[in-house]
Amino acid sequence: MDGRDGPKTRKAIQAFQRDAGLDPDGVVGTLTANRLFTETLSRIAFDSDGSTPHFARAEFACDCGGAYCDGFPAEMNLELLLKLEALRNALNVPVRITSGVRCRQRNGEVGGVDNSQHLFGQAVDCYAPGIPIATVAAIAESLGLTAICYEAEGFVHLAV
Ligand SMILES: [Zn+2]
Repeated sequence: MDGRDGPKTRKAIQAFQRDAGLDPDGVVGTLTANRLFTETLSRIAFDSDGSTPHFARAEFACDCGGAYCDGFPAEMNLELLLKLEALRNALNVPVRITSGVRCRQRNGEVGGVDNSQHLFGQAVDCYAPGIPIATVAAIAESLGLTAICYEAEGFVHLAV
């Protein structure tokens, strides 16, 4: 995993495209990205509490620590959870969530914008140990997520 789109990556993408009956051009376009997402989707099982294979529900709780809310002023967006699983599988290392859902009070405290997607469970801040922020962002974007890199702070904001 070097984050570079070299010949081995291209070969792997072409092999996947051939298996999927797609044009094996080695480029992750919309059809290939959709197919990669669907393949991941078919392998994801939710626990009864809404946890996914690699993320416990508690990891997304508001970090006000119960000061202003019960941890989930909004539930996490399903598409975001599924795409985080796909991202985690693509990276093959843990993805650490530094901020999930936020209540209004906590969002104000951390300087979040007024209409922050964190309020609605539609965004997370995260990083993957040992993987450049830009690489995490690029893979997230290939899965259809919006990514904003905070290089200095060491995390990427991902949203549906
Ligand atoms: Zn809160």
